[in-house]
Formats: sequence, C-alpha cells, structure tokens
Amino acid sequence: MTFESLGLSEAILKAINKKGYTEPSAIQQKAIPHVLQGKDVLASAQTGTGKTAGFTLPILHSLSTQNKWKRRPVRALILTPTRELAAQVYENVREYSEFLDIKSAVIFGGVKPKPQITTLRRGVDVLVATPGRLLDLISQDALSLSKIEVLVLDEADRMLDMGFLRDIKKILALMPSERQNLLFSATFSADIKALANTFMKSPIEVES
Ligand code: AMP
Repeated sequence: MTFESLGLSEAILKAINKKGYTEPSAIQQKAIPHVLQGKDVLASAQTGTGKTAGFTLPILHSLSTQNKWKRRPVRALILTPTRELAAQVYENVREYSEFLDIKSAVIFGGVKPKPQITTLRRGVDVLVATPGRLLDLISQDALSLSKIEVLVLDEADRMLDMGFLRDIKKILALMPSERQNLLFSATFSADIKALANTFMKSPIEVES
C-alpha cells in the first residue's frame, strides 16, 4: 500500500515525502481510512509504530479540505499525558502541516502560561495539550472547546495511570457532543474500555 492510495492530499504527500517515509506503517494502513471517513477509532498501538502520523495525517487532511473559520477556533484537540509527548506530537503536526494553511500550537504545564495564551489568541486550528494546563487556560478564557470537531486521546492508558481521569471528564463536558473521537492506547484495561464507552460512538477497533 502507498500513502497516495490512502487518498491524502498533495500537500500532505509532499510533507510525508520530505520525512522520507516510503510506505504507511501497519497502524497507519488500518487507521487512516476510518479516520478519513470521520469514524470514531479505538486503536491499540505502542510508541514506535507510527501511531502519531496515523491520527495526525488524516486529521490534517480533513481540516484542510473543509471550510475554515475566520478566527480559527480550535477544531482538533490532541491530549497527551506528558509535556515530552505533547512536544513530540506537536513537532510531528508542524512537519506534516508544513505545506497546509493550518495553524498548530502546544500547551503544557511547568512553563509560564503567558506565551501560550498569546499564541492561542492568534488562532489555532490544531492544539496539542496536556490536560491540567488545558483546563487552566480554559478557566482563564484563553480558549474555548466549543468548535472542536476531532478529539484524540493519545497514550490513554498512561493518562489514566497518571490520574487524569477527572480532568479528561471535565474536558469532554466542554466540547460539542457532535464530534469525532480517536483513542490510542498501548494497553486496553477495563478502565480504558469503560472510559471509551462513556464518549465514543460505535468505534472501529484497530491494532498495530
Ligand atoms: P510514533 O509511533 O508515532 O512515535 O512514530 C515512531 C517513529 O516512526 C517516528 O520517528 C516517525 O517519524 C516514524 N514514522 C512514522 N510513520 C512512518 C512511516 N510510514 N515510515 C517510516 N517511519 C515512520
């Protein structure tokens, strides 16, 4: 299988080419078509499988082909458990969107909020965030989740291990119920399945 056959746009193929990827990884082959169709996807994938591109590429494709808002409210939210992972996912989003008219940003705790607030005020289409800082900035009115079209929970098992369940539930309550949900996790415990059941709609299950 090729990236071309997945139906990704020229601008995205150009970015993939620049990264030197020759063919989609197993998780990408399985997940990308469903994500492009707007389905909810529950994916079992470890780090190193190419999972980040598995959700980022189709999200960027869909956002860039659908009409945009003038003021760029956040339309895709990617939640990660740690700032290191947030920074890494953001770097991927930036690289894959190099040839698209898409703005992205990353927010996480442990650093001053001011520059993050300034970035958010300028308008962001795709936001990568850790749960605590996200809620913090929402409470300061630095952003709203009212226009979210796609939510990704990346490394969901680690988020639960780190005690983020309550924060995740608060965040879910702030988004429109009509949206696409993607959940990536290395393991599928009863807790992860219970969480998925609370907000996902007939998710397609894929494994790497
Ligand atoms: P991830 O599992 O998302 O952390 O990705 C692991 C590594 O694989 C990263 O360095 C990616 O840049 C790389 N990668 C992702 N997709 C592909 C692909 N289709 N071909 C080669 N490398 C890839």
